[in-house]
Amino acid sequence: MPEFCSQELESYLDESLSAARMAEIEAALRENSGMAERLAAVIARRDAGEHTLGEIWRTGRVSCASREELGSYLLGVLGEEAVDYIEFHTDEAGCRYCQANLADLRDRQGEAASEIETRRRKFFQSSAGYLRRG
Ligand SMILES: [Zn+2]
Repeated sequence: MPEFCSQELESYLDESLSAARMAEIEAALRENSGMAERLAAVIARRDAGEHTLGEIWRTGRVSCASREELGSYLLGVLGEEAVDYIEFHTDEAGCRYCQANLADLRDRQGEAASEIETRRRKFFQSSAGYLRRG
């Protein structure tokens, strides 16, 4: 039986865990009534307006990397510490917000790369044509 800390139950409620982790928690909730009670307690506390520091961080996305940072991460120009943080945040903590941001940035970088490739090819084709004519 996998163990989940209340932090994870909070993230589960915020749907900010990875899909795999969400599924594990859902399975545990079905099999284990103790889990369901813990989750009910977390919900009751949230309803009562008690906010944990972690919750405030997540709602404010204080711990999320900026789009510029994520872009630099993809370009491989970030320091080791920042890289570790972003990888922990997106892979281990499974922040969906940053995962989506990264996926979007990756798409754009892929597009940019193919545009450069097309431009380069056109340039060489036109110079080759020019040289032939000359
Ligand atoms: Zn994030």
